[in-house]
Amino acid sequence: MIEIPRFNISSEEWIEDKLLYGKKLAVLIREKLKIWTNEKNIKPGLAALLVGEDEASKIYVSSKEKAASEIGFHSIVKKLPASASQEEVAAVIHEWNLDSSIDGILVQLPLPKQINSQNILQAISPEKDADGFHFVNMGRLMAKEKGTIACTPLGIMVMIKELGIETEGKHAVVLGRSNIVGKPMAQLLLDSGQCTVTICHSKSKNLQEMVSKADILISAMGVRDIVDHSKIKEGSVVVDVGMHRIEGKVKGDLDYKEIINKVSFITPVPGGVGPMTIAMLLYNTYQNALWKKEKESYLA
Ligand code: NAP
Repeated sequence: MIEIPRFNISSEEWIEDKLLYGKKLAVLIREKLKIWTNEKNIKPGLAALLVGEDEASKIYVSSKEKAASEIGFHSIVKKLPASASQEEVAAVIHEWNLDSSIDGILVQLPLPKQINSQNILQAISPEKDADGFHFVNMGRLMAKEKGTIACTPLGIMVMIKELGIETEGKHAVVLGRSNIVGKPMAQLLLDSGQCTVTICHSKSKNLQEMVSKADILISAMGVRDIVDHSKIKEGSVVVDVGMHRIEGKVKGDLDYKEIINKVSFITPVPGGVGPMTIAMLLYNTYQNALWKKEKESYLA
């Protein structure tokens, strides 16, 4: 069974009027990580690689660096120009793979067109994978072996566990089958959640029918106006992963205000799933540092 980390945070501290505020939960998780790091006497190191001048990527990387530094992690950022070659990007990864002060490596996506992103992601040592995108870690998840789990689905599973609802035997419907959200999400619900899981995608013919049967609905399509809100099941738990910028506002795949009355719980956008992703990036780096320490003491 895949172990989902437990932070034991009281629901009063992050849930308000059916709204699952990942933003509040993430702050409390980061505080716990700071305490755990001190208790375990480790200094996890997070290294982020930014290639090019994409403004959104710059903001994401600096917020990850800030979040890591705030909880006492060693945190570094390396910037390369947009013209960087595959070899130059790979050289940074190889250097960090050998650097014992680094436990988590993240490559901010998207990379410039001349770079083969998958080759770069797979060059990261699986033991230093912070995002859970390495094929070895994806395979470990499928095989129910411990490894790094993709941050967004892990963050959602942490929310569900902290919420404390019974998931065993429930019907979970995941809308989206990407390698970084939909598929690992479905796997976590299947194994750790003990759910019956249905995955829908752009070729699914009966999506609305599946939505109407979902006790737990995860929307990770990145497309709005697909789900008929009237079909959402009474009393269900709804998680909206989608992120859309519309007239300067961030919205999800769904409009949570329209469905809040019929569901048990729902994640708002913004303030729901998004902030949990960074918290899990830190957790993964912490976990890698801890596994390294355990391995060293075992070998000593
Ligand atoms: P993705 O790689 O584009 O995958 C989207 C999935 O949705 C695909 O499996 C696609 O099906 C499916 N889909 C698209 N249109 C559909 C339709 N009309 N009906 C049913 N399924 C449909 O996207 P992703 O990386 O998984 O991300 C999904 C969304 O989550 C995006 O909005 C992204 O911005 C957001 N996101 C948020 C966070 C966060 O931290 N909050 C993190 C990651 C992603 P096919 O496979 O058939 O094409």
